[in-house]
Amino acid sequence: MKNGIDDLAVLGGAKLFATPRSTSSLVPPDPARVKAYLAPLFDAADGEGAIVANLERRFALFHDAADCIAMANGFWSLVLAIKALALPGRSEIVMPSLTYRRLADVAAWAGLKPRFCDVDQSTLAVSPATMEPCLGPDAALIMAVHPIVGVCDAAGLAALAHHRQLPILFDAVESVYETLPQGRVGRFGNGEVFSFHASKLLNGFEGGYVTTSDADLARRLRSARDHGRSTTGATTGAMTTNARLSALHAATALAALDGLSEQIVHNRDIYNAWCRHLADIPGIRVVPFDTTWRTSFKNILVELDPATWPLTRDMTVRILNAEGALARAYYAPPLHRKPMAYSHVPADLPLTDALASRFLLMPCGHFVSVEDVAMLGHLMRLLARGGSALRERLSAAGCTA
Ligand SMILES: *Cc1c(COP(=O)(O)O)cnc(C)c1O
Repeated sequence: MKNGIDDLAVLGGAKLFATPRSTSSLVPPDPARVKAYLAPLFDAADGEGAIVANLERRFALFHDAADCIAMANGFWSLVLAIKALALPGRSEIVMPSLTYRRLADVAAWAGLKPRFCDVDQSTLAVSPATMEPCLGPDAALIMAVHPIVGVCDAAGLAALAHHRQLPILFDAVESVYETLPQGRVGRFGNGEVFSFHASKLLNGFEGGYVTTSDADLARRLRSARDHGRSTTGATTGAMTTNARLSALHAATALAALDGLSEQIVHNRDIYNAWCRHLADIPGIRVVPFDTTWRTSFKNILVELDPATWPLTRDMTVRILNAEGALARAYYAPPLHRKPMAYSHVPADLPLTDALASRFLLMPCGHFVSVEDVAMLGHLMRLLARGGSALRERLSAAGCTA
């Protein structure tokens, strides 16, 4: 425990954590379960196909969706789904700016130009109201993204898309377990995209998938992930790719699904500990999960109020990182401020700009304990009290961020 700001690692003190505490889930899969799911590889002619088909069945059920198409990762799930859905002859994909940092790259790989829209201040997600003004005559597709805590108004956005006769795809990577009043995430729009990367709720180490109720889209995605192969064997001459999910990753993701309820119990304990330890510290709050509906409690998102919190968000992140707590900015810079070597529509988004300097993600996941959170709560209290003096010391040392 640290007694004063002189003990902070950023000023030369000892680190709070010798091994870093991450903001990622990093749940290790149960080796016995992985092995059991891999068994068809060793005793069936098409073992690999059977394992992937098993995963697709299980995840369609999990989302209460008609179909699930497994892919090599979330990124290529997005690219291939966008390419399959975008209206031909149109150039723009409408998406939030305050979002996953690679999403504009996804658009570029799909051959579309991102047009960035604002988010709703209370949900930090796109809404029909923030999306609508960006839907011009060149809009080829709506790319809605669920925020990192909670969900977006998926039913409202799907209704807007329907009204405007535009396809809508959801990036639902961060909301894989959540439920809305109208049904589970995974059932909305033309399709929804998920990831099995180790940082996500379900760890397959790599992998992703698309859920959809559109049988034609499912058929086209199965072909697209596999060099454009069709059941008839015909070749079209189109540019192809390989985005198949391997059996090893599929087996790992299936094992992760089996362990999900334990993980969520742990996540809830961590979330409750964060809420408890930050409750009475001025200028800082935990963004709450809505527990009316099913939620994973996965991410710990914290908001700093610049009027009362004595340090900038970036200084706060730097101080935490020096202690071995790998806190990170919740989306900075926002995409419309990111240098981009490819084509995009310039945007003026003052609300997104303001929000992009207030939020940070705190350590959580498998390797973070309730005791770790207590230590970090103590540290945040120290920053709230000694922050002004610390800010001057850091500025004097050349850290002005
Ligand atoms: C991680 C992530 C992705 C990409 O998934 P990968 O499997 O890592 O390619 C896409 N969208 C969001 C919101 C993500 O967090």
